[in-house]
Amino acid sequence: MNSDQIYFTWTELDRCADMRNQKNRIEQLKKIKTCHYVPVFEGKHLYPNQKHPFYISDKPVGQPERESFLGILHDELWFSCGLSEDEATYLEQQFNGKFESVREYAMALDEDLGHIALYSRGLDLWQRQKKYCSICGELNEIESVGHKMLCSNGHAQWPRIEPAIIVLVTKGDRCLLGRKHNWKPGVYSTLAGFVEAGETIEDAVYREVYEESNIRIKNVRYFGSQPWPFPASLMLAFQADGISEDIRLDDEMEDVRWFSRDELLQCHQDGSLILAPRFTVANSLISQFVGQPL
Ligand SMILES: [Zn+2]
Repeated sequence: MNSDQIYFTWTELDRCADMRNQKNRIEQLKKIKTCHYVPVFEGKHLYPNQKHPFYISDKPVGQPERESFLGILHDELWFSCGLSEDEATYLEQQFNGKFESVREYAMALDEDLGHIALYSRGLDLWQRQKKYCSICGELNEIESVGHKMLCSNGHAQWPRIEPAIIVLVTKGDRCLLGRKHNWKPGVYSTLAGFVEAGETIEDAVYREVYEESNIRIKNVRYFGSQPWPFPASLMLAFQADGISEDIRLDDEMEDVRWFSRDELLQCHQDGSLILAPRFTVANSLISQFVGQPL
């Protein structure tokens, strides 16, 4: 496995950024092309009867000003439609379903739909959080078919992404996993943390591993990335070689341990070790290390 196997990172969706300020062109295309409208409420999608995939309408849903242009996939136009609470409740009743996080049904989505779910979630959460201008406090208006916020004083804002690093440290036949205090019993994962202001991603990898485990590393290799709109991260995944042995915990971690491949496989099989879900890049890193999907 390599970074090609990270879930929801490959799609033929063309985001058509050049069309975001050509509303008339999009309206013309709507008349002649197939269109898909994805209702989104607080970053969640509607699963009718708790079934997958999420509900996609062939007609606009909700208020036109909350319609965002996602792009063109296989010559068809895709939009996300941000709903109010009343609109979401109405749709839930109409389809006997619930708005749920993409986490719940991720493995039931194909690559394109998984990508669209993460994309529309990230955009919707950003729009909801940016209701007011963060410079002057005036009400923001959504511009550029969903991709820009503009207040009456002309302050423009675009979606902000928060980069986070995630790293699998290995030493011979063992890898380093940790758990935080508030995690469910048995859950362990790769070490991770946010990139800080003024820091390179490489520095963040060294710093986070050392802070959380006291382990020094070398030979840091880029593995791949995954959009992670929970609410606005981009996971940047790495592999690294551990060059020290003794673990010391910081306040953030409840435990950090070295696991051998055999121990990982056995504990995963008997249920005493719970890893991040299959669709996460943390799982991809660990699966790649043990040589089979976990
Ligand atoms: Zn402003």
